[in-house]
Amino acid sequence: MAEIVVVFDFDKTIVDCDSDNWVVDELGFNELFNRLLPTMPWNTLMDKMMMELHSHGKTIEDIVQVLQRIPIHPRIIHAIKAAHALGCDLRIVSDANTFFIETILKHLKIKECFSEINTNPGYINGEERLRILPYHDFNNSPHGCTLCPPNMCKGEIIEKIQDSISSGEKKRVIYLGDGSGDYCPSLRLKDKDFVMPRKNFPVWELICKDPLLIKAEIHEWSDGEELERISLQLINKISLGESAQNISADCKLETIREPFPQVLLAHR
Ligand SMILES: [Mg+2]
Ligand SMILES: [Zn+2]
Repeated sequence: MAEIVVVFDFDKTIVDCDSDNWVVDELGFNELFNRLLPTMPWNTLMDKMMMELHSHGKTIEDIVQVLQRIPIHPRIIHAIKAAHALGCDLRIVSDANTFFIETILKHLKIKECFSEINTNPGYINGEERLRILPYHDFNNSPHGCTLCPPNMCKGEIIEKIQDSISSGEKKRVIYLGDGSGDYCPSLRLKDKDFVMPRKNFPVWELICKDPLLIKAEIHEWSDGEELERISLQLINKISLGESAQNISADCKLETIREPFPQVLLAHR
């Protein structure tokens, strides 16, 4: 079932808060963060905040310990493991950073479930300080998308994923997200794909303004239980549709023109 690519946002989708805010708040630097936020892009500020933490004696180990107790709904871990066990290709597209995401996924023992993590580079430098860099080099090669922040256009990343899987035409994408940054990739999904916006969160509100702009089938979710139930239902439906196709091909029946059962499209 590598026919299905499940793309997850990270903050407020896999984990139940924003990992950047979580680290800054838990280490007691939210006041400084809020004061500086109007003066620079979020991603630049996170790099500066890591410098501030370092100069105030906070170590990498302090950051790791905070990351390891980030809130996450247990059903989301189940959903990820189940989708992986079913053979789906799981990927992350996130505006957090590699260090935060990998630290959390390793701690939860689900890092191996993901084939790719697309996010801002985060690494420990020679002074044992965490550096966070932009995904796109916005000074030298801006991505030019007006919907997205300068450091990352998730739509561009989705197109890269679509290009990489386009050899198998039957591949379907299920995209899960919550934030306004998840709207651009939602717009680029194809009509056989699925988008799962988190209900009452920014991407859901943007989609609801004009759902006809979205080609993919829309399935909202509110919490970890719904994320698990709905995503696994979609995976099952897609696989059933595909096996029905395979059976018809094997029996040399007339080709099914619509590769997706008509009843499922009624939700659009
Ligand atoms: Mg998010
Ligand atoms: Zn964009």
